[in-house]
This record gives sequence, structure tokens and C-alpha cells, in this order.
Amino acid sequence: MSIDPELFRQLKEKAAINRAKRAKPIVEDPRKAPIVYVPTGTTLLRFYMDSENNIVRTIFRHKIRKNSVPCLDGCPVCTHLSEMEKKYPDFPGAWKLRSMETTIVYAWIFSSSEDSKFVKIGTPVLLMGNYKLGRELENRIAEIDEEEFAKMLDPLTDHVLWEVKSGKDSRDFSLVPTLKTGTMEPLPDTLDPLGQCIHPEGQEPNEEEISKFIKVIDNAYEMYVRSVA
Ligand SMILES: [Zn+2]
Repeated sequence: MSIDPELFRQLKEKAAINRAKRAKPIVEDPRKAPIVYVPTGTTLLRFYMDSENNIVRTIFRHKIRKNSVPCLDGCPVCTHLSEMEKKYPDFPGAWKLRSMETTIVYAWIFSSSEDSKFVKIGTPVLLMGNYKLGRELENRIAEIDEEEFAKMLDPLTDHVLWEVKSGKDSRDFSLVPTLKTGTMEPLPDTLDPLGQCIHPEGQEPNEEEISKFIKVIDNAYEMYVRSVA
């Protein structure tokens, strides 16, 4: 069989473009670690201290699927929501729209029983969990003496791994020290401190995102009102 030289040229060109695409490294932002939600099941990990000497940060935000807005003092989403709740006090989905406490920490995951591509093992991650992660971690920190605390936060010291157990139901959560130990790579100093992650501290919420979220609330109520009409 003979191939049309023009077709051959086109095929070669296409192949060259595809090869170039494949060879291009994925551009990763050196300020951001991969975000990992507390895996379901049993996870062994260690925690880091960030460049601003923080271990835990608590953020309040409203989140529905991909829409998320920070909940700060005088939050317009809360104001709108409370008006809607007064108007339709029987809407059972209201709690999902309310502000939730989220904990973020930098961690190194040694192992996880959850087999998911979203769980990154052996690399610093920004671990996100509900209020229980922050509360349990702070309780544990309160029990540790100074020397132990310094070792715990030194990535290169072979230190106790923590076991996080989390059920599908987020109320089911525990954080306990194990008998296992391990070292981890230091936290890259290019990474944003926790205060700059997810919703940077001191940054006003984006107006557009706020109105989008208010629309999500209105849609939810509209569907509810229609369903009971
Ligand atoms: Zn709010």
C-alpha cells in the first residue's frame, strides 16, 4: 500500500504534537501541597509545623459540592440563611448549608487502608478534616511534654506515628499514638503556611462566590418549597 505524502506529513505532525504534550511536565505550584481529605479507615501519619510555627488551622466555611465560601464575621451567607430558616423552619437540608468547622494540617501519610488515588503516601500533604481532627490533635498536643513535642515535629527524628481512624460517618473519629515510628522528608519551605491555604487569612471573600453560594441556597429552598407544595 502507498500512503499519500501529504497524509504522511500530517500524521507525523500530529504525532510530534502529541509527543511534545506528553513530554511536558505537569506544572506543579511549589506553594501548594496536594490536598487529601482524611481517608476512611485507618491511616498512619505524622504532622508538620509550618513556616509560621502553626500545626493546626481551623477554618469556618460553607461548602456544597464544589462551591465553598469562607464564613467570617458578619457573613452574608449566614445572614441570608437565617432569613430563609426563619421563613421555612421545616427545611431538613438547612444544616448542610450552614457554616462548618474544617481543620487543615500538613501531614505525611505512611499508610492508609483507603485505596484511593486521592490519598498521597510518602509526600507532604495538606490534610483536611472536620472539627474532630483539630480537636483531637490539640488534645494530644496538650498531653505532650516539651522534649517529646520537639521530637514529634522534627521530620528527621524517628518518631511515633499517629493512627487516625475515621468512619464513613464523620462522627466516628479517633487519633491515637501507635508503637510504630518513622521519619519523613522535611516540609518544603516553598509551601504556603497554613494561614495562606484554602481561604487566606485576612482576605475578604470573593463577592462573586458569595452571590453564587446564595443562589445555591435559594435553589435548595426553591426545590424544597416545590416538593412540599
Ligand atoms: Zn457564614
